Amino acid sequence: MTKKHVGLYPGTFDPITNGHMDIITRGCRVVDKLVIAVASNDRKGPLFSTEERVEMVLHDTAPLREKGFEIEVRPFKNLLVHFARDVGASVILRGLRAVSDFEYEFQMTGMNARLDSEIETVFLMASEKHQFISSRFVKEIGYLGGDIDSFVSSETKIKLEEKFKLMHQDGL
Ligand code: ADP
Repeated sequence: MTKKHVGLYPGTFDPITNGHMDIITRGCRVVDKLVIAVASNDRKGPLFSTEERVEMVLHDTAPLREKGFEIEVRPFKNLLVHFARDVGASVILRGLRAVSDFEYEFQMTGMNARLDSEIETVFLMASEKHQFISSRFVKEIGYLGGDIDSFVSSETKIKLEEKFKLMHQDGL
């Protein structure tokens, strides 16, 4: 029996965007099983709780699972390379956007390789249409009342609008 290749795609997903979805779709084509690891990342002060982010990732990836791709969505807060071992992943998938991502990703890959030399990091590029999307800007644009339709799913858009409504009510 050939070995099953499990890939781990970690991120904050606050919230999941069409850029993430682009990378997830590509990821499904290069591994047999994809584990999407949603970092609790409390230090980053996410807008959505870990549970909400897991829920949104599950919702948006449902069509891919229906197509037969094996995708698991799991929250995590431990060291990435330890989590990769726990889920049996041999590959970490990351997306690269602009050159600005490179420095951080380069350092993270180097550090992870030192911590566990058997885990490879593979970089994927989103299509031109999705490359510039970032959760941070989606939140800023949405909060200020801009149109975010082409950046997130309609379900995620509703969840964002609910958050912004509460924030505006609280005078934030
Ligand atoms: P982080 O908080 O680590 O930046 P994110 O949730 O923002 O995590 O992103 C997770 C991964 O997805 C990162 O590798 C990031 O570079 C990648 N990514 C996010 N948006 C895009 C995009 N529009 N195109 C390509 N890769 C992306």
